[in-house]
Amino acid sequence: MTGHPQKLSFEFFPTRTPEGRAKQVTTRKQLRQFAPGFFSCTSGAGGSTKDGTLQTITDILNEGTPAAPHLPCVGQTPQEIVELLDTYKALGVRHIVALRGDIPSGVGAGMTGLRYANELVELIKHTYGSHFHIEIAAYPEYHPQARSAEDDINNFVRKAKAGADSAITQYFYNADAYFRFVDDVQGRGVDIPIVPGIMPIASFSKLARFSDTCGAEIPRWLRLKLQSYADDTAAIKALALDVVTEMCERLLREGAPGLHFYTLNQAGLVSTICQRLGY
Ligand code: FAD
Repeated sequence: MTGHPQKLSFEFFPTRTPEGRAKQVTTRKQLRQFAPGFFSCTSGAGGSTKDGTLQTITDILNEGTPAAPHLPCVGQTPQEIVELLDTYKALGVRHIVALRGDIPSGVGAGMTGLRYANELVELIKHTYGSHFHIEIAAYPEYHPQARSAEDDINNFVRKAKAGADSAITQYFYNADAYFRFVDDVQGRGVDIPIVPGIMPIASFSKLARFSDTCGAEIPRWLRLKLQSYADDTAAIKALALDVVTEMCERLLREGAPGLHFYTLNQAGLVSTICQRLGY
């Protein structure tokens, strides 16, 4: 099936409609051919998509694949978080993506509960021991709210040492940033696997908007070239597939422990990349 020792994983977001749910079943079926380590499902901060996430996680488990719910902690009390984790545990979940989440602007003041992801990792570790494999987020190009690169790395190291088992990165198109980040945190005594998060490119304008807010940089040469294709989606896809596949090849060749794909609930581009990589 696959000549790669490095595992793949695929991320989904919860759908709102029965049609969306059915389509996601088909998408996962297509992606299962790559023998993923797990499928994950995002969750809105403050519990906004809790039911959808729970439904998706239940579907994934029923299909026989390990499932990792994302759990953003802001806007929820520790009791609410533990109740949700109890539910996941009872379902058979062994893998959690522990996150802070983003506080909607104007809501932060006076908020109680957990403030940062390292506190969530501590809570999970303290309450459940090693029942859950705890995954955390990493930002090779640094988190957009970080006070400085150093500060962000120190915060990551604190979060990892709180009991994380591995990390998934924000997406990036600059492999050097990833390798530098891994070197930096290893130099500070953190040697958990840090898996690159990979975002295929389907549309330039959407990606550009999203990248501005999450602190991922589209290199100038790539941005200008993609922009020059305007509405020629076939040309955008062709270039983007080459660029992303080449980056994945380099990441795997130079030691990345696996790849985590942001599927946006679509199998097409992700499957092409995985096939080209020889999976
Ligand atoms: P943290 O690690 O808490 O860091 C947040 C910021 O605070 C950073 O700038 C950091 O430097 C700083 N910081 C950290 N700890 C401290 C501390 N103790 N004291 C002071 N400053 C500190 N969001 C969702 O809402 N739902 C999802 O499902 C989701 N899935 C994601 C999956 C992945 C793989 C990634 C990379 C991100 C995901 N996000 C999701 C987005 C994420 O919630 C946001 O990027 C959020 O702003 C930060 O989350 P974090 O867990 O990295 O936070």
